[in-house]
Amino acid sequence: MENDLNSIERQTEYDRITFFYLSLPVVLIGHLFGTLLFSALLYGSVNTYNMIVWLAVSLVFFLYRFYHYYQFKHENEYNKMINYKIWVDRFYSDTLVSGVIWGSTAILMFPTGDIMSQMIIVIFIFAISFSSMGNIAAKAGLLLLYSLFSFVPLIIRLLLLNGQQYTNLGLVVIALMLILIAISRYFGNVVNNSLDNYRSFIETKHSLDILQERFFSLFERAPVGIFYYNEKLEILDSNACFLDLNDCKDKNELMKHSISNTSNTELLNSYLSVFQNDVGNYRGPFTSLLSDKQLYIDLNTVPLLDANGSTVKGGIAIVKDITEEVNAKESIVRNAYYDMLTNIPNRTLLMDRLDKTIELSVKEHYFAAILYIDLDNFKKLNETFGHNRGDFVLKQVTERILKTIEIRDTLARLGGDKFAILLPKLTNNYDFSFDRAKKIAANVLSIFKEPLKIAGQDYHSGASIGVYLFPFEQDNSYDILKRAETAMYEAKRSGRNAIVCYQKDMGDSVLEYININNDLRKAIQNDELEMYYQPQLDVQNGRIIGAEALIRWRHPTKGMISPDKFIPIAEESGYIMELSHWIMDNVIKDIKKLSNLPGGFKLQHIAININSIHFLKPNFSTELKSLIEKHQISANYIEVEITEGVIMENIDEATKKMKELKDYGIKFSMDDFGTGYSSLSYLSRIPFDSLKIDQSFILKMDNNDNDATLVYSIIDIAKNLNLKVVAEGVNTLKTLELLQKSTCDIYQGYYAHKPMPFKEFTKLIS
Ligand code: C2E
Ligand code: CA
Ligand code: CA
Repeated sequence: MENDLNSIERQTEYDRITFFYLSLPVVLIGHLFGTLLFSALLYGSVNTYNMIVWLAVSLVFFLYRFYHYYQFKHENEYNKMINYKIWVDRFYSDTLVSGVIWGSTAILMFPTGDIMSQMIIVIFIFAISFSSMGNIAAKAGLLLLYSLFSFVPLIIRLLLLNGQQYTNLGLVVIALMLILIAISRYFGNVVNNSLDNYRSFIETKHSLDILQERFFSLFERAPVGIFYYNEKLEILDSNACFLDLNDCKDKNELMKHSISNTSNTELLNSYLSVFQNDVGNYRGPFTSLLSDKQLYIDLNTVPLLDANGSTVKGGIAIVKDITEEVNAKESIVRNAYYDMLTNIPNRTLLMDRLDKTIELSVKEHYFAAILYIDLDNFKKLNETFGHNRGDFVLKQVTERILKTIEIRDTLARLGGDKFAILLPKLTNNYDFSFDRAKKIAANVLSIFKEPLKIAGQDYHSGASIGVYLFPFEQDNSYDILKRAETAMYEAKRSGRNAIVCYQKDMGDSVLEYININNDLRKAIQNDELEMYYQPQLDVQNGRIIGAEALIRWRHPTKGMISPDKFIPIAEESGYIMELSHWIMDNVIKDIKKLSNLPGGFKLQHIAININSIHFLKPNFSTELKSLIEKHQISANYIEVEITEGVIMENIDEATKKMKELKDYGIKFSMDDFGTGYSSLSYLSRIPFDSLKIDQSFILKMDNNDNDATLVYSIIDIAKNLNLKVVAEGVNTLKTLELLQKSTCDIYQGYYAHKPMPFKEFTKLIS
């Protein structure tokens, strides 16, 4: 800033000096003529020698000054500006010297006694001074010095001469000199003022330039889009940011572009509000002016006034791009309300919609329903094929279900393999609504008829669906979902791939499920689990040849809980892995104890039930082998009971694993034969050692001949396949006798022994 002011000062001085130098030729030529005329007029009346000297000095000085003028004229502007002080000094000293030269005439060329010639000197000094004093009048000191040089010699001369008239003339010259000084002063002030004015003009202009520059960079480089528009809503100017916003490379493309071309009335109103001398605000979507790119903007408009500030010429709009902000918020909302994997509503959104549905259905008297869907055996699928494939199945299921419902229905993923469908509006008749809901549930179930695809292979799956109709009494959304869930668990219990509608007494069982699930996780630490052993006997001679290990849970408050109840729950929750490991470890420990009895291990085997999820784990063989090695028992003492379902799901993998373990010495028994896929032809391909006919067949054997015949045929086929046959669930002597007529090898059942604690079993066999 200081530099700027210095340069303004310099600029004004420079302007002043330029003004003086440029007017110099006129002055100099005037002086030259004056000099010549003066010499001519005084020729003869003054000393000629003096005159020649004076004339010569004057002419040389004239040339000298002219040379300065010439130099000034040809010097470049920059140097003149830099050296302006030298030029000023040069000019002033030249002027002073010229004053001295003219003042010297009173000494060198004063014609004594010739009053006429004396008057000529007075007039000339006066005239010449007048022409010069104007130039130096701005500097008071200089003016006085100049007057001193040019007038004082004359005044002294006049006052020294004898005679009243000289004294009078001297006084007149003094008076004239004073007048001249006064006039020059005045003139000088005028010059000074005008130069000051000029200077302040330059200064104002300079600060205006700075202001404009600042405004321009503010406008141009502002991080928000700015544009002006006229009454016709045409763009007059815009800054770089606004061009960027519109993906515009060339400003001209936007000039005169109309912004009235929008279907967004809210936006248009903000543009127009300026003509009511009002400001406008708009926040929302915005289509790029040159393409169809979609943005979100925050726009403010203010009136653009004319120079007087009275009439509105148009508007100024400030546009902030908030696209990213809006998108980020949108995705937060999306993540909060939608399931990331399947892109359908999540529980939160479902509950939201459920609340609204309750309100509306109560008000408008119609029924709505919720279907609670849980995929069957999904955990097993996840364990077997990995989570990626599991996710893929969830997506497939989602797509298929979406096809069976209408737009107004909400399919939501509640987590894991649990989904819900909200049917917000059925009819105002309960029975009709009930039928509709069941029909939709049946449609959902039917999507599983077509096998799902996993890595190019068919996978048969199913679902259990619970249905609940509302509104009833004080139903809230939580209750409603809970009841649908309860019905779903009933469907699972009833054998899966089924639809069950909620009934009042179902609530208890779900609560029980949840409690069992929680308590089971503490059962191992609290030492509530124990292995029981049910002896297996030779059908013909009744000798105990082995036993089946069966788990028991002594619940601290509920008493004995059947494995039929908690094993499926452990499967569902994934806790089965830990539980199953505990079972293997404990059974093998017991086998070790039996081996340590006097006479050693006298049985053929102890059978352990292995859950399919556990068996299909890749590290199952290693786990079992390392337990056998840890407790140092013979692998031959173990028989693994698995169900045929495990094999059917992945026959190659299962067979491979069985062969590996069989080579190690372990035996295999097919449990629950007859209840599942039961294709005997498969059996020839699978390396089982024995087959357990499911107790449902054995329990009925003594009812009628047909049931017995069925069992006999199974035994026959098994024998043909070289399998030992075990009959479980032998309740009565009659059943045993029926079996004794066949080639069945082994039996177990309450008739002989119920499952018993290890201690009791040890006593029994020793
Ligand atoms: P399962 O493997 O079919 O076991 C046979 C079930 O039949 C046992 O029930 C046994 O007590 C019962 N049972 C034996 N003889 C008779 C009889 O004469 N009449 C009747 N009505 N029942 C008889 P439990 O111990 O309640 O086990 C039920 C199921 O729980 C088992 O069926 C098995 O699937 C599962 N389970 C039991 N213990 C284990 C285990 O340690 N591991 C695994 N993975 N599952 C187990
Ligand atoms: Ca079993
Ligand atoms: Ca069984």
